[in-house]
Amino acid sequence: MSAPAIVIVGAGPAGVRAAEVLADAGLRPTVVDEADRCGGQIYRQPPAPRRRPYGKLYGSEAARARALHETFDRIAPAIDYRPRTLAWDVADGGVMLHAGGAVGRIPCSHLILATGAADRTLPLPGWTLPGVYTLGGAQVALKSQDCLIGERVAFVGTGPLLYLVAVQYARAGARVTAVVDSGSRADQFAHAPGLLAKPGVALRGIGFVAELMRRGVPVLKGAIPDAIEPTPDGLAVRVGGRSFACDAVGLGYGLRPETQLADLAGVPRRFDPRQQAWVPESGADGRTPVAGVYTAGDSAGILGADAAELRGARAALALLEDLGRPVELARARRLEAGIARWARFRAAVDGMFPVPAAALATLPDHAVVCRCERVTVGDIRRVAALAHPEDVNRLKAFGRVGMGRCQGRFCGENAQAVLAAITGRPVADLGVHRAQPPIKPIPLADFARVAENAEPLIEEAAQ
Ligand SMILES: Cc1cc2nc3c(=O)[nH]c(=O)nc-3n(C[C@H](O)[C@H](O)[C@H](O)COP(=O)(O)OP(=O)(O)OC[C@H]3O[C@@H](n4cnc5c(N)ncnc54)[C@H](O)[C@@H]3O)c2cc1C
Repeated sequence: MSAPAIVIVGAGPAGVRAAEVLADAGLRPTVVDEADRCGGQIYRQPPAPRRRPYGKLYGSEAARARALHETFDRIAPAIDYRPRTLAWDVADGGVMLHAGGAVGRIPCSHLILATGAADRTLPLPGWTLPGVYTLGGAQVALKSQDCLIGERVAFVGTGPLLYLVAVQYARAGARVTAVVDSGSRADQFAHAPGLLAKPGVALRGIGFVAELMRRGVPVLKGAIPDAIEPTPDGLAVRVGGRSFACDAVGLGYGLRPETQLADLAGVPRRFDPRQQAWVPESGADGRTPVAGVYTAGDSAGILGADAAELRGARAALALLEDLGRPVELARARRLEAGIARWARFRAAVDGMFPVPAAALATLPDHAVVCRCERVTVGDIRRVAALAHPEDVNRLKAFGRVGMGRCQGRFCGENAQAVLAAITGRPVADLGVHRAQPPIKPIPLADFARVAENAEPLIEEAAQ
């Protein structure tokens, strides 16, 4: 029997732990990641040589970051690692790659999708101004490039990442001029008991809020800015009657899973009302309804980094079981129990920091939803009145929301929420943007060259 062709997309916590289990079982998975080095979002590494020490870069997560990086270094000789490589389609028993200015295809009998998550924005008036970054973008600047997005920074959004990034910026020397959280105190008190599933993590979060207050940072709860506006010396975040001056804004309303490759692999997606996001259908073991396709980590629904490690290992065990390899069942059960604990914790976090989807109903007409195609809330209202699109894909066809470079990755959920508010229909009935390859832009000229260690996509292109 020929060796299975296993591809893992993503070298974050989930992908690394999946690769570890498979390598330890004597298999040689291919691990594909767009980034230069392993670690994913949370344990992102700066370009070599590292300039800041682990403690400074990762704070309380330094030990976990080091452990993950060291695991990957240990298994590197046993796997086929492809950094700086985008997986842009899944089709015909293969994964399509883009690397080094060239494209190609690698065969794939088993696929673990560990593609993580991305920031979620709220299309507040002014969110597309220069100087406004997503929270993740602000964090990447700090972790990867060792620089700040501004000297005076306001943070706007909701969720634990809002407070974490604000604290990271304050510690790195920025003046944090405000933290504006849409989560209300009432929600936070009501759901706090669920945090007892992980008391240590909860205490760290409370510590971040306390530190910001100690530093004199105004922290507003249950508040959504009316607008971010340009001023002669930078920007201002306007909330109610107050205005917070800054020269940059970090903005993020939680995370949403990256599900495009799952869709292209034929995995159905379902709407998760608690996270207000579409997630691939998969079990606690990572198996999807498509044989040989598994999901792991935040791409299967947001549970956080520690759970991602457990989910990566569990998906790899499921794959081993499906290959008929011996698997220690007690280990699989332990992993599932750990994942279930994180899921309980996450349910409390989601309740404390709900996505303020209802706010999209009252946004002014000029607010930009789709920045690639510059489609505003008013444009969606007009298209809805004229053409009555029955779902977001028809809205895309009629009104171009999600037609641009991001393919709806950043505007999709917001467009759905606006359409839901207009039509009065539940978001779950309005569908999700179909993924289109390439899931991220690739220069056309690169289709003429074949990536190293890959098969050509088009025979003539290889000659
Ligand atoms: C921007 C951002 C910042 C975050 N910061 C923190 C934080 O400070 N603290 C915290 O506790 N949690 C943070 N989180 C959440 C945390 O990162 C996740 O819970 C955790 O990293 C999930 O691990 P994962 O392996 O599932 O995904 P990730 O760590 O996101 O890893 C996914 C990997 O897949 C790669 N990838 C995705 N799609 C493709 C593709 N098509 N082709 C090739 N490679 C691909 C990415 O480059 C990435 O390396 C953050 C999340 C985001 C999105």
